[in-house]
Amino acid sequence: MSFSACMNCGASLTQNDIALHKKLVNRGAERFLCPGCLGERFSLTAEELGELKARFLSQGCGLFVTEEEEA
Ligand SMILES: [Zn+2]
Repeated sequence: MSFSACMNCGASLTQNDIALHKKLVNRGAERFLCPGCLGERFSLTAEELGELKARFLSQGCGLFVTEEEEA
């Protein structure tokens, strides 16, 4: 399910993509970057972004949903 689109490339975003942007950039953000564009901006690989997402999820960050819930 997409909630929004990347403000840079227009890719559709999942809830976790938005959550990742909020954690990395600004919790109060209203426009978001997709993981690809976030990765470019912060020099993170897709793998590193996946690890960050998993870490936030394991910390019980309420912004994130499990993959099953996200689907
Ligand atoms: Zn993008």
